[in-house]
Parts: sequence; structure tokens; C-alpha cells
Amino acid sequence: MKVIRTIPEMREARQAMSGPAGFVPTMGYLHEGHLSLVQGSKRDNSSTVVSIFVNPTQFGPKDDFNRYPRDERRDISMLEKAGVDVVFLPTAVDMYPSGFNTWVDVLGITERLEGLARPGHFRGVATICNKLFNIVLPDRVYFGQKDAQQLAVIKKMAADLNLKLDVVAVPTLREADGLAMSSRNSYLNPKERTAAAVLYRSLCLAGKMIQEGEHSADSIRAAVTGLIEAEPLAKIEYVSVADTVSLKELEEIRSQALISLAVRIGKTRLIDNIALS
Ligand code: AMP
Repeated sequence: MKVIRTIPEMREARQAMSGPAGFVPTMGYLHEGHLSLVQGSKRDNSSTVVSIFVNPTQFGPKDDFNRYPRDERRDISMLEKAGVDVVFLPTAVDMYPSGFNTWVDVLGITERLEGLARPGHFRGVATICNKLFNIVLPDRVYFGQKDAQQLAVIKKMAADLNLKLDVVAVPTLREADGLAMSSRNSYLNPKERTAAAVLYRSLCLAGKMIQEGEHSADSIRAAVTGLIEAEPLAKIEYVSVADTVSLKELEEIRSQALISLAVRIGKTRLIDNIALS
């Protein structure tokens, strides 16, 4: 596996690849969820590139940029074992040199959910992904359904800007109790870790209610809210029952819905979702 830290070297390595290349952008502190994206890319492509970059522009002033977990050595060894061809670790100065002043802003779908809760977040995400795509020139890019709105933003950007690549969605990988794997789970103390299972439990409750014929989005929101509020360590930021494409809140559930949550467990902000059709 090549470990590359500069943009010219990354371009050179890409040129030397024959056949389709898959790309998995990450912020590192890798877990099995990230590796399932890698497996998807290895299945579909002859080469796989993974980037590790904790992107400062997608963190707000009150977000956890400085304390975001990092372990480069462990990440590199996990990717090597997973059979990745290239790991790209650009520096912040190379990605955002002094005078950098061009941004990619996907409108509409970013005005809700995470976009509302974290102003500027998706502008940072879309900009860094576009830049990384321009450097790596992948045929396919892999994103987790865990971050459903991010996936929708990347799909919209790829369509609107005529990017010559396919965006591939990968299902959320979960721990045994249902908690979605996330680098941020490492912030949780043992009591918080136990409490965090309430997110998936509440999503399952929503799924069950819909399966049993509940059509009212308000009833679903109320049931999910009630279950989470019964957990003393949990504090709800939002509970959403929205259209899977537009992400607009639904009144009535007909054929599909994205149930998504942002919940603080202690000081840790966790998100999760399930898509139902
Ligand atoms: P991150 O390092 O958190 O920016 O995540 C990098 C990629 O991994 C994103 O496309 C995430 O949606 C995806 N990802 C994170 N957690 C999971 C998970 N539990 N299952 C599947 N994909 C995930």
C-alpha cells in the first residue's frame, strides 16, 4: 500500500492505475463501518484509494475539530490489512492554501436537519469532496448511509456539476446493540455508551409502527421522542420524519420515509437514521 501525503504524488499514483478506481473519503479513526466502504470499493474496482483528512471547514466554531479522535498509525495498518492500494493523507495547508476562496454550496437539501443544526457544515463537506474527487479522479466514490444527508448532498453535487463518477451508498454498520459505528462513539464513557443504544431502539420503534400501518408522521415523531426522553443521559436535537429525496418533513407517510435523529448523549452529539420504503 502506498502512503501518499502530497497532491502531485497522488495524481501520479492515479495515472499509474489501470482500470476503474474506487475512492473512500474519511476523517480517519477508522472502524468496521469505514472498512465496509473499502470492501465495496474493492468489489467494484481494480484499485482503491482511501483518504484521511479531518477537514477543518466542515466543523463549526463550537464543534469538536480539535478533539476529533486521530490515530494515523492504526488507520494505516487497518487499511493495509484491508488491501487498500493507496492511502492519501493531505495536509490542511495543501488543501486550503492561503488565499483559498472558492466554495461549493449545494442549496435546498442542506437547509434542513444537519444543515440547520450545523451552519456551513455541508459547504465544507461538498467543497472538500469536490477537491478530493478532482485530485483522485475516481470512477466510483463510496459513502455511508449512516450520514444520509451527506450522501444526498454528494449525489446532488455530482449530478448538478456533471461529475464523471458514480456515488455508491453503503448500508450502516452497527454494534451488537444496534448503535451505529462512529469515530465519535470513542467519546462515550461506559454509562453513556449503554444509553446510546436508545437511538437505534427508537428508530426500530418507528420502523415497527410504520410496518404495522401507522401513517401519521407526528405519531412517529411523538413515539420516538418519548422513548429517547425516557433515557436520562439523552438530549434530543431533532427527530425527523422526512421525504427520502427532498428531506422535507412529512405529514403523512405513504411509500417512503427517512427517519433521522440527532441526539446528545452527555456532551457527545450522535446522529443515526433508517430509510423505510
Ligand atoms: P467519517 O470518517 O465519519 O467522515 O466517515 C467516512 C465515511 O464512512 C462516510 O461516508 C460515512 O458515512 C461512512 N461511515 C461512517 N460510519 C459508518 C457506519 N457505521 N457504517 C457505514 N458507513 C459509515
